[in-house]
Amino acid sequence: MKTWLGIDIGGTSIKAGRVAADGSVLERKSIPTPRSLEEFRAALPALAASAGGDLAEGAGIGCKGLLDPESSRVLVSPGPVVYLEGHQLSVLAGLRCPVTADNDARAALAGEVAWGAARGLRNALMFTLGTGVGGGILSDGRIVRGATGVAGHLGHVTIDPDGGPCICGNRGCLETVFSARAIEAQAWSAGHRSLATVLRGQPSCADVFAAADAGDAVAAYIVDRATFHLAAAIAGLMLALDPEAVILGGNIAAAGARFWTALDEGIRDRTHVMLPRRVPLVRAAVDDGVMGAAALAATR
Ligand SMILES: [Zn+2]
Repeated sequence: MKTWLGIDIGGTSIKAGRVAADGSVLERKSIPTPRSLEEFRAALPALAASAGGDLAEGAGIGCKGLLDPESSRVLVSPGPVVYLEGHQLSVLAGLRCPVTADNDARAALAGEVAWGAARGLRNALMFTLGTGVGGGILSDGRIVRGATGVAGHLGHVTIDPDGGPCICGNRGCLETVFSARAIEAQAWSAGHRSLATVLRGQPSCADVFAAADAGDAVAAYIVDRATFHLAAAIAGLMLALDPEAVILGGNIAAAGARFWTALDEGIRDRTHVMLPRRVPLVRAAVDDGVMGAAALAATR
């Protein structure tokens, strides 16, 4: 039976598993993300071996930042695994099988193409709505990389030309308005300004959505304003790329009907003339970093 090793390198943990052709995960292992290159070099081969890496046809590695898929070299990865920049993940993992590595959001889309909501589609947009906003573009059957691997950073589409600074160096990006961090910052600010709201202290993004669902007017304002901007960003990208479906993954995609309905209506309002057909707005079916990483190798 052919299997592929998937390794998902995140800021807090590294997860690995061997995935079969039908998408079932045979072994799953996880370790806290090492703090240094030396620790990483020691820990990754052991993790890959414990997940059955020697039995895999190939391996896929998903990691934050920009990577060269052929060499598996990390080009740019600001944040907790910055020490990987310039290093080849296939070498660090001690893997002898072919290795494909890519940005984690693109890996997430690969997972949906192989086993999830994008199966059978040739054109789709994917957004991972979490701490930040990741993205992926499937166009004419290919996951778009662009000239230098930057393509698909949908969280960094400018949504407000006068907006505040973003970690990417641009200003007014989608993720400065719609992301768990942006929504939490708004909620903290509302509580700090003593507005009449149940939001106090440092509420989580899920707390803000729950308060909005329960009728808290301030929480509803924060969620609705963020959703309005997400709808505008998605509408613009839909008109640029004409997808068969828009797929939402990440923690915020677990939000309830209030969010999904408002988002769908916001998108329809902006796209109904050019895209009179209803483009399905669907939740990611795989939404699993290990399966996404394995899909990079399985669909190589
Ligand atoms: Zn940005």
